[in-house]
Amino acid sequence: MTGFDALLDQHRPVRLLTAALETGSFPNVYLFSGPEGVGKKTAARTFAMACNCQGEDYIRKKRASACGQCRSCRKILSKSHPDVHWIFPSGSYIKVDQIRELCRRLSLKPYEAKTRLAIIAEAHTLNPEAGNTLLKVLEDPPEKTLFILTARQASDLLPTILSRCRHIRFNPISRENIKNYLAAHHEINAKDADIVAAMAGGSLSCATAMIEKNWIEDRHWIIKTLTELHNQSINYQLAFAEFLSKDKGRMETAFDIMKSWYRDLAVYAYVPDQLINKDLSDEIAAGSKQISMSRLLDISRMIEETARNIQTNANARLAMDNLVIAISGKGNSKKWKK
Ligand SMILES: [Zn+2]
Repeated sequence: MTGFDALLDQHRPVRLLTAALETGSFPNVYLFSGPEGVGKKTAARTFAMACNCQGEDYIRKKRASACGQCRSCRKILSKSHPDVHWIFPSGSYIKVDQIRELCRRLSLKPYEAKTRLAIIAEAHTLNPEAGNTLLKVLEDPPEKTLFILTARQASDLLPTILSRCRHIRFNPISRENIKNYLAAHHEINAKDADIVAAMAGGSLSCATAMIEKNWIEDRHWIIKTLTELHNQSINYQLAFAEFLSKDKGRMETAFDIMKSWYRDLAVYAYVPDQLINKDLSDEIAAGSKQISMSRLLDISRMIEETARNIQTNANARLAMDNLVIAISGKGNSKKWKK
């Protein structure tokens, strides 16, 4: 699927964009805002294709979609169309040189497109100089050129840029739709697809990345280790902490898994149908009987605090050692008491 039908749970954005294509009336600048991985860039690409599709059916019927097959569609799909410009952050930011180069290209005539597009992904990463340079071109846009900016939140953009945009909000994708998508497109069973969907926070790209990184296996191992920690030697516990803290990505994954596990233990007695780790409901039922609510809340707070401290440059290894030992119930947990 290469059209708007590839988007999940974005009925309103699709309706607005389709209507704009059907009437041929759209603004100079769109802002697509919403969480990562919900289809903002796919929507921008589809819009670019639909504006320029050369497929006979699509021209004749004036459909607000694209064939995905014609020369123009194929070039846009492979990001090699000379009139569809993509800007992504270079490192953490979109830099002024990138925007200057874009402006230089837009000052020339389009090569072949009916509508030329400049798609600026993650526009919340525009540094101030780049933002101000972009603003100048938005104030006096070249002919037949549409800008599409994507960002997590509109409030992350310079107000002067925001005021130039027609804003379309994209939604997080439902757990059910992510689960169905994963089951259809990946070699994954329904139970695993469901838990990945629950942890992906409404983001399809996050869910897909989790599968590629063997997140399911990591989760099984981390939860199993957590539940057995109190029976293990201090050396084993420190080795576990060391393994988790060696890699930033792994550490973030571990924090998310820990949070979901202790959260489930805490909510089980009240809303057993609202578990994240639904496939482990038997283990959660058994585990929740062995630990008090105040201890669960303490552990959840310790995990949050450790994750925050590491983010603000605490020594990851030491912080993780302390956390693992505190979870195991050994050591001095007074330091965690408020
Ligand atoms: Zn086409």
